[in-house]
Amino acid sequence: MSLDLTADWEKTDCPGCQCNRGFVFLNLKPNAEFEHSHAQLIRCPDCQLVFLSPRPNRNIIGQFYSDDYAPHQTNKIKHHKKSSKEFSSPPPEINAKLLDYGCGNGAFLLKMKALGWEVTGLDASANAIAVANAAGIKALHGDFKHPEVTTIKFDCITLRQVLEHLHNPLETLNEARNHLATKGKISISVPNIESLPYRWFKEDWLGIDFPRHLLFFNPQSLENMLRKAGLKVLKMKHIRHSSWLRESSLNALKAKGFSFKRWLGSKKLSSSVISLWAGLTNQCDCIQVLAEEED
Ligand SMILES: [Zn+2]
Repeated sequence: MSLDLTADWEKTDCPGCQCNRGFVFLNLKPNAEFEHSHAQLIRCPDCQLVFLSPRPNRNIIGQFYSDDYAPHQTNKIKHHKKSSKEFSSPPPEINAKLLDYGCGNGAFLLKMKALGWEVTGLDASANAIAVANAAGIKALHGDFKHPEVTTIKFDCITLRQVLEHLHNPLETLNEARNHLATKGKISISVPNIESLPYRWFKEDWLGIDFPRHLLFFNPQSLENMLRKAGLKVLKMKHIRHSSWLRESSLNALKAKGFSFKRWLGSKKLSSSVISLWAGLTNQCDCIQVLAEEED
C-alpha cells in the first residue's frame, strides 16, 4: 500500500480537554509508506494525554485497516480464549447484558457468551461484523447510534483496545455511560505509554501502531478522561503481554540493528522475565480499568 494522503491528515488540539498548548512528545520518523505525514506524538500539559497529530481524518482512517487486520480475521477467533487476560467475569445474574464496543471478529464475545452473558457487539468494520455474525454472535455495524442499541441498557460495556483508535473518545465514553444499566460497569483496556517496553523501544513499540492509534494513555490520563465522561474508576490493573515485548524488540532490531536490549526482548524466556518484572513494578504494555457512573 502506498498512499499520499497529505490533504487528509488533520492537526488536532488535545482530544481529551481541547487544550492547544501541547508539546512534542515523540517525532515519528517518516517512512516509505507515509513519507508526507510528518506525524508527531503531542503531550497535553493539562490532562497528560498523548495524541497523534497530524492524524488521518475520519474520512480516510478506514483505509489503514486493511483486509488482513488481525482483530478482524476469522482465523484469530480460536486463539482468543488462550491469549485473553482481559475481562472474563461471569455475569452477575442470568441474561445480564454485555456490549463489546469495537468487537472485531467477535472472539471475545464468544467467550463471554459461553460464560452466560447475553452479548451484543458493535464495530465500524463491516468485514469484522460479517465474521462475528458467521460465528453466531449478534454483532452490529456502527456505533451507539445503531437503532438496535439506542434504547438498550447494558450491565457491562467493554472497550478493549478501542479507545486509542477514536477521534472523539469523550463522545463515545459519554454514550457508553448513557447505555449503562443501574450499577452497570465499564471495562476499558488501552496500551500504556508509560510502560517499560515503550521506554525501551519508543517508535518501534507495538503500542504505537501508526497511524491507527490516535491516543496514548498512561494511568493518570485515562483516569482524567473517564472522570470528564462522568465515570469513576473502581479498579486499575496492569496487563502483561510478553508477546508485545518480543514483537516490539523485533521491530526495533529490524529498523535499527542489534543492541543488547533489543536482543534480550526478542527471546522468549528473557521477554517473559522482563514482562514479569514490568508487571511487578506497574510498567506493563497495557492498563485495564473497571469503572462505573459517578454518583
Ligand atoms: Zn488535554
